[in-house]
Amino acid sequence: MSTWYFSHPSFFKHDTGEGHPESIQRLLAIEKALSAEEFQGLVRKEAPAGTHEQLRLVHKEGEISHVLEAIPRSGEVHIDPDTVVSPDSGTAAMHAVGAVCAAVDAVVTRQAANAFCGVRPPGHHAEPGRAMGFCLFNNVAIAARHAQKQHGIERVAIVDFDVHHGNGTQAAFQNDASVLYASTHQYPWYPGTGAAEETGVGNIFNVPLRAGTGSQGFRQGVREKILPALERFQPGLILVSAGFDAHRDDPLASLELDEADFAWITEELLALAEKHAAGRLVSTLEGGYNLRALANSAAAHVRALTEKVS
Ligand SMILES: [Zn+2]
Repeated sequence: MSTWYFSHPSFFKHDTGEGHPESIQRLLAIEKALSAEEFQGLVRKEAPAGTHEQLRLVHKEGEISHVLEAIPRSGEVHIDPDTVVSPDSGTAAMHAVGAVCAAVDAVVTRQAANAFCGVRPPGHHAEPGRAMGFCLFNNVAIAARHAQKQHGIERVAIVDFDVHHGNGTQAAFQNDASVLYASTHQYPWYPGTGAAEETGVGNIFNVPLRAGTGSQGFRQGVREKILPALERFQPGLILVSAGFDAHRDDPLASLELDEADFAWITEELLALAEKHAAGRLVSTLEGGYNLRALANSAAAHVRALTEKVS
């Protein structure tokens, strides 16, 4: 079995306008890094479109139509000050959802060893009733519900190492003990949520990190809080919100991680997936806005995924 990489042409057409950090250039940089010789073994898959039924696993009907009806025939529309849609954004958003659900299908049916979804738009800020923070639909939350509904996986863990707290993912599951959400993030920072005291029904594990925190503080938080929580939870599937904006060179935040930290947490999560979830792990792209840091970090993450594969 191999690591599968999901992408789709529409991800390169979701135009957020001049100067927007969540740009098409991000995915071009990642794909260039993954075109290196060492990634020859990566199995490349075109993401199918997600379905309305999948969207409804997390989002309210009114919110789904609010987003899709905002898509313009030309030009750009701001859903909020940060979140921009243009003519191809709806197609991209549907394929981003479809990518993560298809990756779950591939991993659960043992066609793929694990998977990385190189999607745009990202998803973890999208709440059940509100698109925000560059995110239209919550790709990873929908995939968690899809795994439960389609594959009967009872306990799904979502680990989010994006520098921003995944308020949308937390909101989707804070009353549902069947999904564990664990996040490391700069705090206080956008979007304002993510305090350690936000624990849901005992299923939310927030590791807030002060600006300037580097490798040591990050790894300590993961080791002391997140890994033991995952051990106790014994998930049947691990989903990863892989944002790379906690990198020291990222322009949108002030943590001080580097590529080695992203490789490290990937290896730790793979080991846990191996122990509790028959190796089942699906990762999806969230943030990361310095193109070079993003490309190198995503490559380190995917390298760790492929190295686990026999
Ligand atoms: Zn982020």
